[in-house]
Amino acid sequence: MVRELTHFIGGKHVPGASGAFGDVYDPNTGQVQARVPLANRAEVEAAIADAENAQRVWAAFNPQKRARVLMRFLQLVEGERESLARLLSAEHGKTIADAHGDLQRGLEVVEFAAGIPHLLKGEFTDNAGTGIDVYSMRQPLGVVAGITPFNFPAMIPLWKAAPAIACGNAFILKPSERDPSVPLRLAELFLEAGLPAGVLNVVNGGKEAVDTLLEDPRVQALGFVGSTPIAAHVYATAAAHGKRAQCFGGAKNHMIIMPDADLDQAVEALVGAGYGSAGERCMAISVAVPVGEETADKLIAKLKERIATLKVGRSDDPAADFGPMVGRDLLDRVRGYIDLGVEEGAELLVDGRDFELAGHEEGYFLGASLFDRVTTDMRIYREEIFGPVLTVVRAADYEEALRLPSEHEFGNGVAIFTRDGDTARDFSRRVNTGMVGVNVPIPVPIAYHTFGGWKRSGFGDLNQHGPDSIRFYTRTRTITSRWPSGVKEGASFNIPTMD
Ligand code: NAD
Repeated sequence: MVRELTHFIGGKHVPGASGAFGDVYDPNTGQVQARVPLANRAEVEAAIADAENAQRVWAAFNPQKRARVLMRFLQLVEGERESLARLLSAEHGKTIADAHGDLQRGLEVVEFAAGIPHLLKGEFTDNAGTGIDVYSMRQPLGVVAGITPFNFPAMIPLWKAAPAIACGNAFILKPSERDPSVPLRLAELFLEAGLPAGVLNVVNGGKEAVDTLLEDPRVQALGFVGSTPIAAHVYATAAAHGKRAQCFGGAKNHMIIMPDADLDQAVEALVGAGYGSAGERCMAISVAVPVGEETADKLIAKLKERIATLKVGRSDDPAADFGPMVGRDLLDRVRGYIDLGVEEGAELLVDGRDFELAGHEEGYFLGASLFDRVTTDMRIYREEIFGPVLTVVRAADYEEALRLPSEHEFGNGVAIFTRDGDTARDFSRRVNTGMVGVNVPIPVPIAYHTFGGWKRSGFGDLNQHGPDSIRFYTRTRTITSRWPSGVKEGASFNIPTMD
């Protein structure tokens, strides 16, 4: 039975009216399990109108009351973690254990946003001039929107929705059409937690829905996460329509392995960060950079041995290290990149192309692949593959290894494995990427710090979550006041100074 999904607008499930639908697959079997409506312009505009009305009511809640809604939401999710993780895994294809992590990293940002009374406190200068006080306050923007990718269907919607609504905005979420069920369930739970209807609307759709959000003057700000070409398009279009935007794109994350690194630890880190979630993470390691031929030879010998033990299986198989890819199109794309790497002259040491899971021949499974002797002119090095493919670029020395991620067009995350504090410290300060791990392969910052890549991995000046998210979802009003004496001196035609 194919379920028919809805939008979630004004606190209600609203069936699609456009007549257009997308298919949601079971990546384990390749079968369609649900149909998701794709909203047209009129449907998105109705959601915006609804959000605009709800926002006025919500902004009048004091911050402490808004925080209590987030706290109740956290309690409600606690009661259904397992079912949410299963639902997520069933549409995305990541393992259930990994789906728990997806949810957890999102909930941590809700916990952070529950501190909103403290986070919204403004600044005050007493007696900035004689009898004059200056103070600033952070006020919500109004209606804001988030457009999110398929690969973290719980985490990224929560990274955006929680700070946005905590600040007093209404939020319209346009989740990925590949796995929309968890975002819809999270919106129901927010309503149950006491969020007024319409403060969090979920509108499913594709380009038409996004274009409407970009062009409608009632939407004040847009947060986007997805591939770089769309991130760049959303950023430019939002700016052209006078909107605030933060847009995060693709990645090519390197891991430098110094000759003094613990190689067993480095290999474990590489297989986990390279192949976990079938490589469908923006912080996945896709390029290993061993420094020196000896390090490279030893690393590769150990990697090949370890890859041979990896278990690819159904997403609900507790023994699986990773499950299927999300869709047939992505599977074909990644296979195409492996073909290309061979044509380009890289050495394919482990070939995952022919992997099949018995009884699941129509599922979107791909084995782990490993390329050695990849060079910087190859497309498999320059472009994001977004699958279980690890490439090895050998560097002669530390400076060459440092240059590789620094000169790459993407600048999301990077890691260095070494036992030397001085090397790690130098690397952390000089490498040209937004997030750095020292003996940590996936350095996704914790909720109260901020997450964001550099170069073509991130467009906009403020990061996600942490204090930046409060700045992004509010605007500052600054008040200069003099009273009770008022203006006694009469009109002044000069710019006021604080004499
Ligand atoms: P995607 O760009 O295909 O889709 C992202 C969102 O944009 C979806 O909601 C989709 O419906 C919408 N969209 C797609 N085409 C559009 C168009 N032409 N106009 C307007 N909207 C459009 O990305 P994806 O495949 O869902 O996600 C994978 C990508 O996201 C990878 O590149 C990955 O690196 C990136 N990602 C980045 C981060 C980060 O923080 N930098 C985090 C997660 C994922």
